[in-house]
Amino acid sequence: MKAFTYIRPTTAKEAISAFASAAEGARYIAGGTTLYDLMKLNIERPPFLIDVTAIAGLNEIDINEDRLRFGASVPMSAVASHETIRTSYPVLAESLWKAASQQLRNMATGTHPVKAAVAVARSPLV
Ligand SMILES: Cc1cc2nc3c(=O)[nH]c(=O)nc-3n(C[C@H](O)[C@H](O)[C@H](O)COP(=O)(O)OP(=O)(O)OC[C@H]3O[C@@H](n4cnc5c(N)ncnc54)[C@H](O)[C@@H]3O)c2cc1C
Repeated sequence: MKAFTYIRPTTAKEAISAFASAAEGARYIAGGTTLYDLMKLNIERPPFLIDVTAIAGLNEIDINEDRLRFGASVPMSAVASHETIRTSYPVLAESLWKAASQQLRNMATGTHPVKAAVAVARSPLV
């Protein structure tokens, strides 16, 4: 794996400005379950990683009467085990439980799989 610089900013402004001033190929990183694998295989060789998991507000799940909102750093396990999601959105919770092992669910952020789960839940085949 190629050497890289790693930072973990606490504000979105700091993260965006670090990305804007970084060398080409910089990447944001959350749980790393995809990106670290690609780096180990030398498919991705980012010189600079900006970890978004400490950014305030990105780790929140916000549920209103008719709206679910997930921050970009919310781990899959937090969504899958959330009591309201388990009771009111069981297909979503179950999809995430089945998507990976507990270790991976604890690391991987949910945005991409949540979108996939919602697409599946809306499918006429389910
Ligand atoms: C065993 C296993 C099973 C899986 N099963 C499924 C599945 O059933 N369905 C499915 O949809 N996916 C599946 N995946 C893929 C899964 O969606 C990703 O591994 C996970 O969502 C990536 O989250 P992460 O936080 O680890 O992302 P990372 O690896 O940290 O990042 C992935 C990419 O997103 C970018 N990124 C991360 N955060 C941000 C951000 N805030 N803003 C902009 N860019 C960002 C990174 O630069 C990188 O390019 C699986 C993966 C594994 C390892």
